[in-house]
Amino acid sequence: MQYYSTNGNAPLADLEKAVVKGLAEDRGLYMPERIEKLPKAFFDNMHEMTFQDIAYNVAANFFGEDVDMDGLQELVYDTLSFDCPVVKVSENIYALELFHGPTLAFKDVGARFMARLLQYFLRYGGSADRGDASMYQTETAEDRGDASVCQTGTVNVLVATSGDTGSAVANGFLGVEGIHVYVLYPKGKVSPIQECQFTTLGQNITAVEVDGVFDDCQALVKAAFMDEELNRRMRLTSANSINVARFLPQAFYYFNAVARLQEMANGKSADGKSVVMCVPSGNFGNICSALFGHEMGLPVKRFIAANNANDVFYQYLQTGRYEPKASIQTLANAMDVGDPSNFARIINLYSENGRLTPEETHRRITSFISGATYSDEQIKETMRQCYSETGYVLDPHGACGYRALKESLQPGEVGVFCETAHPAKFKEKVDDILGIDIEIPDRLRAFMEGEKQSVALSKDFSDFKQFLLNETSPTGQE
Ligand SMILES: *Cc1c(COP(=O)(O)O)cnc(C)c1O
Repeated sequence: MQYYSTNGNAPLADLEKAVVKGLAEDRGLYMPERIEKLPKAFFDNMHEMTFQDIAYNVAANFFGEDVDMDGLQELVYDTLSFDCPVVKVSENIYALELFHGPTLAFKDVGARFMARLLQYFLRYGGSADRGDASMYQTETAEDRGDASVCQTGTVNVLVATSGDTGSAVANGFLGVEGIHVYVLYPKGKVSPIQECQFTTLGQNITAVEVDGVFDDCQALVKAAFMDEELNRRMRLTSANSINVARFLPQAFYYFNAVARLQEMANGKSADGKSVVMCVPSGNFGNICSALFGHEMGLPVKRFIAANNANDVFYQYLQTGRYEPKASIQTLANAMDVGDPSNFARIINLYSENGRLTPEETHRRITSFISGATYSDEQIKETMRQCYSETGYVLDPHGACGYRALKESLQPGEVGVFCETAHPAKFKEKVDDILGIDIEIPDRLRAFMEGEKQSVALSKDFSDFKQFLLNETSPTGQE
C-alpha cells in the first residue's frame, strides 16, 4: 500500500517509510491510497470471532501487502495482550473500556502496535530487499551522495504528550533495541500519576520537561522533523497520533465493540438498534481511526466527537470554518488541544483528497458526525450523576463521551462511548469530585514507586536542538 501526504506535495511512501518518517516531507500527514471494505463474510461472522482475530482481519486489510501474514498475526496478537471490553453502563449506553493495557489508556493499543511494527522493519528491512533507496542500508547517506537524511544508527522516536501518549509510547518501546524515545511534556500540566509512567523508566526512554504547554511540545517535535541539520545527524521519527502505525490500529477495538454488542444480541444487529459511537477527542487520532473503520464497512450509524472546553472541532461543525486556537487547560487534560493534528486527515478523507469543495466536505461530515463541548463544571456534574445513578466511575475524558450520548441518543439507537483512560489515572480529581477513594490498580502503583528522571528545557527550538545534538555527539549516548 502506498501512502500520500494530505498536503499533496510529497512523493508517495510505502508503509515502512510512512512509519519511520511519521510526517511527510511537505509536513502533511500520510493517508493510505485506498481504504478497502472488509468482505461481507467478515461482518456476518465477527460476533463469533475473538478480539484478536477481528483485529488481525482489520490489520490485514491495511498492512497485508507490507508485512508478511505470520509476522502481522504475531504483531497483532502481541499488541493485544489485554482486552477492550464493552460494559453496560445504563439502559442503552455502553462503555468501550480502553484502559486495560499497561498504562491504563487507549493509547497503549497504537503505541504497542507501532513499536512492534518499527521493530519488524528494523529487523527485516523491507525496502533493502526491494532494492530501492533503502532507509536501512549500512552505507552512509554521504556514500550515496544524499546528505539530507541520516540513514543509520539508533532510531530516535520523538513524542509530544499532554499526558497519556508519553506513557503509552514509552512503555510500548521500553527496552526495544535500536530505538531511543524522547518524551516531551509540558511542565506542571501532567498529573503526577501520568508523569511517573514515563519519567521513571530509564533505559532507552528520556523524559524532557518543557517549560510551556502541550502545543509548544508538539511544535518542538514538528520543528525537529523539519530541521535539516538534525535529520542529517540523527534518524528521527514520530510516535504521535499522526503516525499511521499508531492511529490505524485503533480501528481494531471499534470493530470489536460492534461485534460484542452483536454477540450480546445473539448475532443480530446490536440490540436490534443502530450504533452511535462517541469518542472523547483531543488530537482526533482516536475518532479518525473509527472513521477509517467506517470506511471499511464498520456498521455504525453516526459518530460524536466529544470535547472539553477546547472546541475548535465543534465550532467547525457549526460554522464550516476551522480556526485553531491556543489550548485551554481543563479537567480532561489529555484533550487540551487547540489545533488537532488529525483534523487534516478528516478533511482529506471526506473531501476525497481535495476533490470536493470545502462546503460539500462540511455537509458530508456533518451528515453523520456531530460534536459536543463541555466545561469542567459539566464534566464534574456528569461524573457525579453517572456515579449516583449507575455506580459507574467515569474519568473526566469518558465523562464528556457519556454526557454527549445522554444528550443526543434517539429511540432505536444504542450508544457506545470510549472510556479512554482508567479513572485512577486521575485519582486526586476523581476522588475529590465523587467523594470516594478509588483503588489504584497494581500496574499503576508500580510506576509510582520509581524515581523521576527528566531533562528540563525551555520551549525554544534552539535549546531542544542543541540538546538532541549533544545526545548524538561522541560523548553522548551514541
Ligand atoms: C489522548 C487521549 C484522548 C484524546 O485522544 P485523541 O486521539 O488525541 O483525540 C482522550 N482521552 C484520553 C484519556 C487520552 O489519553
